[in-house]
Amino acid sequence: MRIERCPFCGGDAAVVPTNPNRWRVECNVCLAAGPERSSEAEAVEAWNERRGEGCPFCGGRDLVTYSYGQAYSNGRYFYHARVMCRACGSEGPLAVVDDKKEAMREAERLFKEGK
Ligand SMILES: [Zn+2]
Ligand SMILES: [Zn+2]
Repeated sequence: MRIERCPFCGGDAAVVPTNPNRWRVECNVCLAAGPERSSEAEAVEAWNERRGEGCPFCGGRDLVTYSYGQAYSNGRYFYHARVMCRACGSEGPLAVVDDKKEAMREAERLFKEGK
C-alpha cells in the first residue's frame, strides 16, 4: 500500500508496530506519527488522510504541546517536545532543544510549518 509523504516535512514514512497488534506510520525524517490503528492497512489509511486545518490527519483542533524526557549530550541537557492531537493521538515532528520552553516553541513551529 502506498504511504503518502509526511504532511509536516514531506519526508518518507514507514509503518511501524507500537504495541502488540497496534501500528502507526512514522516519518523517517522528522519523526511525526500518525494515528494508531489495529492493522498496518488501517494505520496507512489514517496517515494518508488529509483534512487541512488543525491536525492534518483528522482535522481536530484539540492540540496540546508537551515536553518529555531529557537527553544528556555533550555536557548539556536536551528537552524533547511535540504537538499531539488529542482527538486521534497523532504526533507532530520531534523538537530537541536545550531549553524546555524553546523546545515546546520549536515543536509548535515544526507542526505549523509543513501545513
Ligand atoms: Zn516528517
Ligand atoms: Zn488528529
